[in-house]
Amino acid sequence: MNQHASIERNAPFQFDFADPPALREELRMMRREVRRFVETEVVPQAEAWERDGKIPREIFRRMGALGFLGMRFEEKYGGTNMGALASLIFAEELGRSTFGGFTSSVLVQTDMSAVHIGLRGTPKQKERWLPGVIRGEIVCSIAVTEPGAGSDVAGLATRARRDGDHWVINGAKMFITNAVYGDLLIVAARTDPAAKGSRGISLFLVPRETPGISVTKLEKHGWLCSDTAEIGFDDVRVPADAMLGEENQGFYGIMDTFQNERLVIGGICAGESAKAIELTVDYVKDRKAFGASLWQQQAVRMKLASLASKAAAARQLAYHVAELLETGKDCIREVSMVKALSPEVLHEVVHGCLQLHGGTGFMRGTPIERMVRDARVLTIGGGATEVMLEEVAKRM
Ligand SMILES: Cc1cc2nc3c(=O)[nH]c(=O)nc-3n(C[C@H](O)[C@H](O)[C@H](O)COP(=O)(O)OP(=O)(O)OC[C@H]3O[C@@H](n4cnc5c(N)ncnc54)[C@H](O)[C@@H]3O)c2cc1C
Repeated sequence: MNQHASIERNAPFQFDFADPPALREELRMMRREVRRFVETEVVPQAEAWERDGKIPREIFRRMGALGFLGMRFEEKYGGTNMGALASLIFAEELGRSTFGGFTSSVLVQTDMSAVHIGLRGTPKQKERWLPGVIRGEIVCSIAVTEPGAGSDVAGLATRARRDGDHWVINGAKMFITNAVYGDLLIVAARTDPAAKGSRGISLFLVPRETPGISVTKLEKHGWLCSDTAEIGFDDVRVPADAMLGEENQGFYGIMDTFQNERLVIGGICAGESAKAIELTVDYVKDRKAFGASLWQQQAVRMKLASLASKAAAARQLAYHVAELLETGKDCIREVSMVKALSPEVLHEVVHGCLQLHGGTGFMRGTPIERMVRDARVLTIGGGATEVMLEEVAKRM
């Protein structure tokens, strides 16, 4: 009998990292519910969404009905106010779907865009927008990046000029998620042209159908089911009360919300890594070469064990950071570490896993092929690895 027969298994299995022992039961329950939803309502349909370049509206409404879109919002608007750990677990479970476009589109809604309204909105703004966002009837975007300013947020040039009771916005935004099919843009624009750099930027709530907005859908390397747009603003008029947060304080709001965005990217990476490893263990246990399964090659087992160990370490840092954020600790250095480390580890994991799928992994239609394409952007968006390392270095 082969010495490794005892580690062969017949049934498909789930590869999971262990939860922190003190994790609240409501969060464990939420994880189970999101996992069930992803397995039964996302995975069977999402190939079609990739082909269409679009996620159906019903899926947002369904997630709203299940309570998944309100975890970071106050109860009085329909949310459940569950904190940073909830966002991390939610991101992890969406990441396990293997459809990065779906994951990103939903997390832009819950943790990157509408979260600005929850944190900085007036009661009137919250009453107007949040119930619809939480029910999945309003889909949101955050429009910060421009053709001439990405990593350097303080270099943005879109201008908002006061005109009586209105602001008039002119400029352009680039690579904006949910902007083709979404309803509400949260737009960063320069309100004080005399102020240099980070000063003089404000945020605005701009309905997507406002006259003067033009949207061009962009074709991407991955994340095919999420929509990404270039947006033009040509004398776009919004009422004075469309300003979100204090005038000229928008940059600091963006930086503040980046901390949560970067944490959830750590969650996406953890979920995608676990799923890639799971798919690959399944594959190599089934695939025969040299008279046995690939799993019986020690080099293959060690490769997968090594990838799993690195992914577990990166994930653990994200859980640590979520706990720091929940206790209100200043942890920009640690959040930046998560964003610098997790996507780089994910790249290593998905490329290592594709390698073990052989030629099959290079073929369109296999989850691992899509996961490699989808993972690529995570070292760029939400703060490129180099920029994150600089944030860490500044605090050393
Ligand atoms: C699919 C997708 C979806 C996106 N969704 C959104 C969205 O919804 N809203 C939004 O506002 N933005 C969005 N973005 C934009 C994203 O946040 C930016 O692409 C990112 O911030 C990097 O900016 P950039 O592309 O202009 O690259 P640049 O800033 O031009 O940088 C290019 C590269 O240079 C290197 N680099 C940059 N700065 C430094 C430095 N200081 N030191 C060393 N190296 C450096 C990095 O390798 C970086 O990748 C999205 C992008 C993509 C691709």
